[in-house]
Amino acid sequence: MSEFHLPEIRAALLSAERVVILTGAGLSAESGIPTFRDSRNGLWRNVDPMKVASLQGFLKNPDEVWRWHDDLRKMLATAKPNHGHECIAQLQQLLPGQLQVLTQNIDGLHQIAGSSEVLELHGSLSRICCGNECGFSSTWDDAAPRLCPECGRQTRPSVVWFGESLDEKVFAQAKRACLRADVLIVAGTSGVVQPAAGLAHLAKTAGAMTVEVNLTETPFSRLADHSIRASSSEFLLSLGAALRKPNLH
Ligand code: NAD
Repeated sequence: MSEFHLPEIRAALLSAERVVILTGAGLSAESGIPTFRDSRNGLWRNVDPMKVASLQGFLKNPDEVWRWHDDLRKMLATAKPNHGHECIAQLQQLLPGQLQVLTQNIDGLHQIAGSSEVLELHGSLSRICCGNECGFSSTWDDAAPRLCPECGRQTRPSVVWFGESLDEKVFAQAKRACLRADVLIVAGTSGVVQPAAGLAHLAKTAGAMTVEVNLTETPFSRLADHSIRASSSEFLLSLGAALRKPNLH
C-alpha cells in the first residue's frame, strides 16, 4: 500500500477544508465503458470523431450523429457504477460538504453511485437540449423530440462536442472549486482534453496538494505531488479504507 502514498494523502484529506475530485473516462472503464483513446476498444476506434461528435458533423449529417449518440446512450444505460464511483460517493459522506466532484464523463454513473452536486463539464447523455440554446432541455428517452417544442429549431444531445465551449457557468464553478481546493485528486483522465485538463494545473498553481491516479503516465504526472500508477478503483478503495481507520499505523 505504501506505493499509494496513503499516509500523506490521508493526512492531507483529513486536514483539508476543500477537496476536489476530477474524473475522466478511465474511472468508468471498469464499468465496461470504453475510453475514447484506447487502441483496442476505444470509442474512436472505428469512427471519425469530427463526423459524429462535432457541430459541423451534426449539421452535415444529423441522423448519423443522433444514431451514434443513441447507441452510446443505450450502452451506458446498461452500465453500473464500479468501486471507484462508489468510493467517491462514500468520500463525500466522510467529508460532508467538503468534496466537489468534477467529471468529464457523460454517463451519469457518479450520481447513480450516490454522489451529489456533480459538475458535468461535458454535459450528459441522459439529456437533450435545444440546438439554438433557447433554454429547452429534457430527459433523453426514446420519445425525445428532434424539434424543440419551444422554438421549433433542432434539438441535440446535451453534450459538449469537439470545438465547442463548455457551459460558462459550470466551468466557472469548476475553476472556483479548483482555485480553493486544498487537495485535488485526478482519476482516470488522459489530461489532454482542454479546457478540463487545465483545471488540474490551476489547482496545483493555487497551492493544492495534487494526486493523480491513472494506469499510464499523463502530461500531468510530472507535476502532481503524488502520481499513482493503478486503476482508479483500486486506489480509491485503499484510500477509503485508510480514511476509515482511526490511524494508519
Ligand atoms: P480518455 O479516453 O482521453 O483517457 C482515459 C484515461 O483513463 C487514460 O489516460 C487511461 O490511461 C486512463 N485509464 C483507463 N482505465 C483506467 C483505470 N481503470 N483506472 C485509471 N485510469 C484508467 O478520457 P478523458 O481523459 O476522460 O477524455 C475526456 C473525454 O472523454 C471527455 O470528453 C468525455 O466526455 C469523454 N468520454 C466519456 C466517457 C464516459 O462518460 N464514460 C467515455 C469515453 C469518453
